[in-house]
Amino acid sequence: MLEIRNIFKTYDNKPLLRGISFSVSKGETVCLLGASGSGKSTLLRMIAGLEFPESGQFLFNKIDLAQTPPHARDFGLVFQDYGLFPHLNIFDNVAFGLKMRNVPLAKINARVAEMMDLVNLQGFEKRKVTDLSGGEQQRVALARALAPQPRLLMFDEPLGALDKSLKEDLLQELRSILHKTKIPAIYVTHDQDEAFTIADHILLLHDGEIIRDGAPDEVWQNPNSAYAARILGVGNVIEGVVNSANKVKTEYGTFPLNCKHKHSKSEKVSLLLQQSPSPFRRGARGEVEIKLKVEDVLFKRDQFQVKSRGDALSGEALSKGGLVIHLKDAPKVGQMIRVWVKVECLA
Ligand code: ADP
Ligand code: MG
Repeated sequence: MLEIRNIFKTYDNKPLLRGISFSVSKGETVCLLGASGSGKSTLLRMIAGLEFPESGQFLFNKIDLAQTPPHARDFGLVFQDYGLFPHLNIFDNVAFGLKMRNVPLAKINARVAEMMDLVNLQGFEKRKVTDLSGGEQQRVALARALAPQPRLLMFDEPLGALDKSLKEDLLQELRSILHKTKIPAIYVTHDQDEAFTIADHILLLHDGEIIRDGAPDEVWQNPNSAYAARILGVGNVIEGVVNSANKVKTEYGTFPLNCKHKHSKSEKVSLLLQQSPSPFRRGARGEVEIKLKVEDVLFKRDQFQVKSRGDALSGEALSKGGLVIHLKDAPKVGQMIRVWVKVECLA
C-alpha cells in the first residue's frame, strides 16, 4: 500500500528527518511516536502532498505520488484541533468531501447516515459544531475523513486536546473502527500509552531517524537503546562502568555484562533494570537480587510506586534519580528492601 522511501527533510539548513523509510499495509495502523518537534507533522504534511522532501519517495500501490496533487491522493486527515467548518452543521461537515466529489445527493444522505452510525452520533446531523463537546467534535472529524472512503487515514495527535478518560474511550473506539474498515492508517503522537494502545506497528522517531520499530510487544520487550527504554518507560535505565573483570559496576551492585556489543574497561554503559514479575522471588534465570533504600512511596492505582537508591557503593552514587519499582504493599520510607531484577546492557 503506502511505501515511504528514504525521506530527507531540512529546515533552515538543519536536518529534521534523515532517511525515513517504512510502509503501511492494508488494515494496518502504524504509529509514529516521537517527542514534540521531532518532525511528525512535517512527515504527515509531506505524505498528504502539502510539502516536499529534499529527497526520497512516497509510493502508493507502487505508484510514485510525486505527480499526484493533494486532493487526488484520496488520503484523509484528522488533526488535534478537529478542523471542522464552524459555519456548517454536522451533516454538511461530514458530507463535505462527498459534495466536492459531486456524489449524487441520495448517495450522500446514505453515506452520511452510515458514518454517523459508525462514530455513534446518530441524530446529530442538524446540530451546530459549536454545540458539541471536544470528543463529539473529534468523532465528526473522523466521520468526515472516513466518508469519501480514503485510501489512507492520517491522524495528527487527534486526542491531544481531550481529557484522559475520554481519550481512552475514543482510542478504543477508533481502534475498532480502523479494524472494521481496514483502512491503512498512520497515527502520530508523543504519548506512548496512546501509541501502544492503537498501534499494530510502532515507529520510534528520535533525532530525525527511526531508532526502533516493531509490534508493540516486541518494542516493549526489547527497546534496544537507552533513549527508547526511557521514553517508553519500559524499566529503569541506569549508568555503570565496565571493570577489569568485564562486569559493570553500578550504584545497585556489580552485574555481568551481558551484551552483544564489545565494551572496553572503564567504558560507561547504560543498563536496563526491569523488576521481576514477583519482585521478592527469583523469576527467570539470570535475574539478580539488589538491595535498595526506600526514599519515597507514591500511590498509583492498585500498586505503590517506590523510589529508591542503591546501597552497593555506600553513597558513591554513579547514577542520578534513583530507581523506580512497583509493589503491591507499601514499604516504609528509609526501609531497606531486596528485589529481583533482570539486567540488560542497552548499547
Ligand atoms: P512535531 O509534529 O513532531 O511536533 P513538526 O513537524 O511540527 O514536529 O516540526 C518539527 C520542527 O521543524 C519544528 O520544531 C520546526 O523547527 C521545524 N519546522 C516545521 N515547519 C517548519 C517551517 N514551515 N519552516 C521552518 N521550520 C519548520
Ligand atoms: Mg505535530
